[in-house]
Amino acid sequence: MSDCLFCRIVAGEVPSTAVHEAELVYAFRDLAPVAPTHVLVVPKRHIVGADEIGPEDGADVAAMFAAAQTVAEAEGIAERGYRTVFNVGRQAGQSVMHLHLHVIGGRDLAWPPG
Ligand code: AMP
Repeated sequence: MSDCLFCRIVAGEVPSTAVHEAELVYAFRDLAPVAPTHVLVVPKRHIVGADEIGPEDGADVAAMFAAAQTVAEAEGIAERGYRTVFNVGRQAGQSVMHLHLHVIGGRDLAWPPG
């Protein structure tokens, strides 16, 4: 999709800081990190969002979580723990309509607090 930001990042048309790449997925640093590690894992194929995942997307989604594990190991946060997030829809903060898994860690993220 030529008008999709993350399709353009996957295609190398928009610059990004690569963290990991595999056959079905690409992982890059979030432009506005909320923690020392904030990486986005996206399928190379255009999938709109978590609310539109279907059986045909199983391999892509499995590859996204495999990539998240690899990223967490590489970033040194696998043992201490990290958060994986799909924002779904506007009220949850989804701003890019191409499926992406946030991998966030490197600071205390306990939630709910206390
Ligand atoms: P969401 O709000 O869940 O849709 O997440 C979209 C994320 O993409 C946000 O955390 C943005 O900071 C991030 N983002 C937007 N544009 C870029 C970009 N060009 N490169 C890297 N991250 C981006």
